[in-house]
Amino acid sequence: AVINFGSINIDHVYQVDHFVQPGETLASSHYQQLLGGKGANQSIALAKAGVEVKHVGRIHESDASFKQTMIKAGIDCKYVACTQTPTGHAIIQVTPEGENSIVLFGGANQELTDQDILRALDSASDNDWVLTQNETSGIEQVLRQAKDKGLKVAFNPAPMTESVKSLPHNCIDLLIVNEVEAAEIAGCEALDEMESYFRTHWPHAEILITLGKAGVRMLRKDESIDVPAFLVDAVDTTAAGDTFIGFFLSSYTKEHDAKTALTRACAASALAVTRVGAAQSIPEIAEVNDFLKK
Ligand code: ADP
Repeated sequence: AVINFGSINIDHVYQVDHFVQPGETLASSHYQQLLGGKGANQSIALAKAGVEVKHVGRIHESDASFKQTMIKAGIDCKYVACTQTPTGHAIIQVTPEGENSIVLFGGANQELTDQDILRALDSASDNDWVLTQNETSGIEQVLRQAKDKGLKVAFNPAPMTESVKSLPHNCIDLLIVNEVEAAEIAGCEALDEMESYFRTHWPHAEILITLGKAGVRMLRKDESIDVPAFLVDAVDTTAAGDTFIGFFLSSYTKEHDAKTALTRACAASALAVTRVGAAQSIPEIAEVNDFLKK
């Protein structure tokens, strides 16, 4: 199984003619409330990809329906606590041109405690993997405690912040970054330079650098594996990375074949970018299998 310590957000999405200006009161023509957060999106992708997934997180007790949505998606939510703190949420304005502007409130995601973390890790079996992103509190604890227990640890430092650089690198077995995050950590922009940075400074970890429509490069022992993206008509790249991570880990944790896992992840995320939205754009495993047969 994969134990994912991750954010659960409610995305409040408002259609507007233009972004609200200082002092302006703006009417929105359309409003939608969606389950979001990188953590929840990655758990949904893992579940859709067919791996057992336990989510560890926090939401406000009045938002228990979002926990039900996650359970219905096949996620084990025994370790999602309902609390008194507001659920993490994003206020998202979307213009007719498809541009967005976002206010994010971490809320309950920032109250993940050592006790939450230890309780969930106590339920782990030897072959489980731990996954976390950078949208909750307690990340350092998750990394250290998971490693202490001898579990495999995958880390996706998104959204990127300065604090990521001081996390204990040697607790991480698999680092999954997009090009922007990789450049930020490595302090350079060219892919080959990033590669030599990671090979020098992160020799113990496998590194996955996703490159948008250029595909992905994986650094693994002495090999670099490049897999191109599938050519599709992209309409919305939201959750491309989350889809990639879910499908990659599902395959990699079960079969441990990097090339196969990368190809499946590229196929799943190519399908995701052809659809609008976050969680609802993540494909089912059967769609990914069909896509790969074509
Ligand atoms: P993030 O969404 O985290 O910024 P990327 O943009 O690197 O991550 O996208 C993750 C993966 O999604 C890529 O490695 C690629 O396989 C796939 N992908 C992203 N954009 C496209 C695209 N325009 N066409 C096809 N695949 C894409």
